Amino acid sequence: MSKAPALADFRRIVVKVGSSLLVDSGAGKLKQPWLASLADDIAKLHKEKRDILVVSSGAIALGRSVLKLPKGPLKLEESQAAAAVGQIALARTWAEVLGKHDITASQVLVTLDDTEERRRYLNARSTIAKLLEWRSVPVINENDTVATTEIRYGDNDRLAARVATMASADLLVLLSDIDGLYDSPPAANAKAKHIPLVPRITREIEAMAGDAASDHSRGGMRTKIEAGKIATTAGIHMVIASGHVNNPLAAIASGGRATWFLTPANPVTARKKWIAGSLEPKGVLTIDAGAVAALRRGKSLLPAGVIRVDGEFGRGDAVVIRGPDGAEIGRGLVAYDAEDAAKIMRRPSGDIMLILGIQGRSEMVHRDDMVLGGE
Ligand code: GLU
Repeated sequence: MSKAPALADFRRIVVKVGSSLLVDSGAGKLKQPWLASLADDIAKLHKEKRDILVVSSGAIALGRSVLKLPKGPLKLEESQAAAAVGQIALARTWAEVLGKHDITASQVLVTLDDTEERRRYLNARSTIAKLLEWRSVPVINENDTVATTEIRYGDNDRLAARVATMASADLLVLLSDIDGLYDSPPAANAKAKHIPLVPRITREIEAMAGDAASDHSRGGMRTKIEAGKIATTAGIHMVIASGHVNNPLAAIASGGRATWFLTPANPVTARKKWIAGSLEPKGVLTIDAGAVAALRRGKSLLPAGVIRVDGEFGRGDAVVIRGPDGAEIGRGLVAYDAEDAAKIMRRPSGDIMLILGIQGRSEMVHRDDMVLGGE
């Protein structure tokens, strides 16, 4: 594909909003009318049955202004404390602006480990999946109040890309100070040329990024390119567009100036490739003929269909799925550890609570976490 896709092509969109768009540093207040216009756009996409997630910065910037802190760099504990004040205001604002459209906002605060550690990643992923199923719009930020220097993303661009991966989104929108990528930083070069489409992130593209950053955002173009690499490798398209216009998503939809970063693969294929290829299977689930047929019809693997569990695996590990004759049917990420899997196999999902004492997922391997041979 070498032309920019249309917003309407996507079914699950992560929208990242930078601090400088949300907070007017002069007045020290949220930019309410702009935010309302963004909420209008989100509501429209949401009504058209798309899933929307928002990654919202602004906690520290907002906390600063509520606390009337002087300009200049903050010490770590100061920014953590400022974030605690700002985040609560930020969450309330999102709940209000989305609530006006009868959309239930939800708040998810993540730390680096939540996306980088496999088990926690899966856990956060299930929560987000449930919120989306309930048609909520999750509003996500880094948990700046507890994140320390060594263990933080620091910028919400890469965080947003990881969230997009975690949520199996198909598009990441970065609303920014700037309307996309230029062949050199436009602040330093008036002749810099805007690049509307990046089919692949090459070294040359990376070199164009420079370091542009505004007062509030720690991001700049460099972290946006990093985000682009994460997203496009995971099968997610990314678009950078200016947030300095009202209804910024509608502007993208109508072909406004932006830079599209295309993923070479569609999301399903890339994710499935990752499951099929890059993980060492830790165990084997043998399933009955009925389950084989169900999987081939596109269903998830339920505990009832599993007749044997081998190996020492933990929740979230990759396992091989074999048919009753031992032939490999596919691979997937298992939702239970080996011990629990053995306890609930051959049993209906309704019994999980009874057997394990917790209400785990009803699937042993969810369809989204599975790749079948020949797919
Ligand atoms: N998480 C930070 C905040 O909410 C923002 C990080 C960024 O702007 O990239 O204040």
